[in-house]
Amino acid sequence: MDRRVRVRFAPSPTGPLHMGGVRTALYNYLFAKKMGGDFILRIEDTDSQRFVPGAEKYITEALNWCGMKFDEGVNEGGPCAPYRQSERKEIYLQYALQLVASGHAYYAFDSAEELDKIRADYEAQGKTFAYNYLVRESLQTSLNLDSETVQERIRNNHNWVIRFKMPVDRIVKMHDLIRGDVEVNTSTLDDKVLYKSTDSLPTYHLANIVDDHLMEISHVIRGEEWLPSLPLHYLLYEALGWQDSQPKFAHLPLLLKPTGKGKLSKRDGDKMGFPVFPLEWHSPDGETAHGYREDGYFAEAFVNMLALLGWNPGDDREILSMEELIEAFSLEHCGKSGSRFDPEKARWFNAQYLKTKDNSELADLYQPILENYGVKADKTMVEKVCGLIKERATFVSDFWSLSDYFFVAPESFEDKAVNKFWKGENPNRLQQLRDVIATIEDFRAEVLEHTIHSWIEQNQYPMGQIMNTFRLAIVGRSMGPSMMEIAELIGRDQTIQRINSALDKLGNPA
Ligand code: GLU
Repeated sequence: MDRRVRVRFAPSPTGPLHMGGVRTALYNYLFAKKMGGDFILRIEDTDSQRFVPGAEKYITEALNWCGMKFDEGVNEGGPCAPYRQSERKEIYLQYALQLVASGHAYYAFDSAEELDKIRADYEAQGKTFAYNYLVRESLQTSLNLDSETVQERIRNNHNWVIRFKMPVDRIVKMHDLIRGDVEVNTSTLDDKVLYKSTDSLPTYHLANIVDDHLMEISHVIRGEEWLPSLPLHYLLYEALGWQDSQPKFAHLPLLLKPTGKGKLSKRDGDKMGFPVFPLEWHSPDGETAHGYREDGYFAEAFVNMLALLGWNPGDDREILSMEELIEAFSLEHCGKSGSRFDPEKARWFNAQYLKTKDNSELADLYQPILENYGVKADKTMVEKVCGLIKERATFVSDFWSLSDYFFVAPESFEDKAVNKFWKGENPNRLQQLRDVIATIEDFRAEVLEHTIHSWIEQNQYPMGQIMNTFRLAIVGRSMGPSMMEIAELIGRDQTIQRINSALDKLGNPA
């Protein structure tokens, strides 16, 4: 019988979650939901040196904003609680000791200073030091020292670590669901530290394997920066006797810079003017970085854009809701090579989502902006304005520059439009138009259109000239939706007032 699908997102709280990390979480989530399985959040905080206060809260808030719900995790709890590794401290030592007892690991007593010195000596000879099978028997390890010395050092609280004893010249055959079969000769690998006595904590490798096993993780889906650790992870499963229930692995390719060259890094956003983080981040030392949420992106647009950076639904659909993404998701459709991030495309996604939002939701988002400009407008009016301009906007923050004239009369008139239209008979005809408008009782766009067009036809006036002069008076510039719609929304009195004000301010053309 196939085992239940259980996947985990296992970030280390070392800072804000980069969009590559959000994508990893998203693919885990989509896979879990598609397979009817569980999505777990485990916080891997065993590296106290790199711990950043506020990072865990940021991670959970960001994933919540994206609409990913955990079945088990630090906040949700669950059958494998606790889900924060620092709270599972007691669990790991027994496994490190088991590995020592079975000969798969050993104690090492070299101090950081001693290792630094060895490294420096190697460098002086133009070589790079690796803690591996070539040196482990000549350093201060339990492979070299007699067992009494080893026991005595442990008893006397001499600092020690437990290192994995990497086998010599063995080919590890691995399978990755995205990359296929991979092979590595163990002689190229070093003896990683698994456990440290200084803080009684395991390192990433041991804690990660032990927890994936205890939490019955069926698939590990993570970034390709972890691929080099895969041979060690395979060997740890084997050494602990867990190879039969070892999870399947899928390593996701990198997100690349917009230029296509190199990994999209945390610094790129601020350098190139786009966010690389889901939410704005304020670091404990006062640095701030942009976030998609605060920059005005809709969570659905951000998620949709991210999903397609490295995966495709197998057809040419581009706009997919979370439900549709779940339905369509498969690891087979994840690409093997890096995906270039395109900030322009991110904006395009937002514009697509903005267009389909209902006007009432947009009005709620626009109202606070209007209030900032000192405008108090009723919701129905704001909804209608949103309906008229949303096709032209990318963000709600574009609304004001696209629709200010619905709420405030223009104070000045754009030179270009004035030079083009405020000439010849146009001002005089605008005055006539005002008088026509004054007679229209039922001030709806259709009625306006009918009445104004008949008047233009009867007089055989040039339609473009009249309407553009009308627009100049009402909007102050050459932009916006149909004049009839604008006039209907601002109402008859305001329309007439604005025509009068333009006639007054612009006067007779020279
Ligand atoms: N804690 C690791 C990270 O920060 C997890 C890697 C994994 O998923 O195994 O990415």
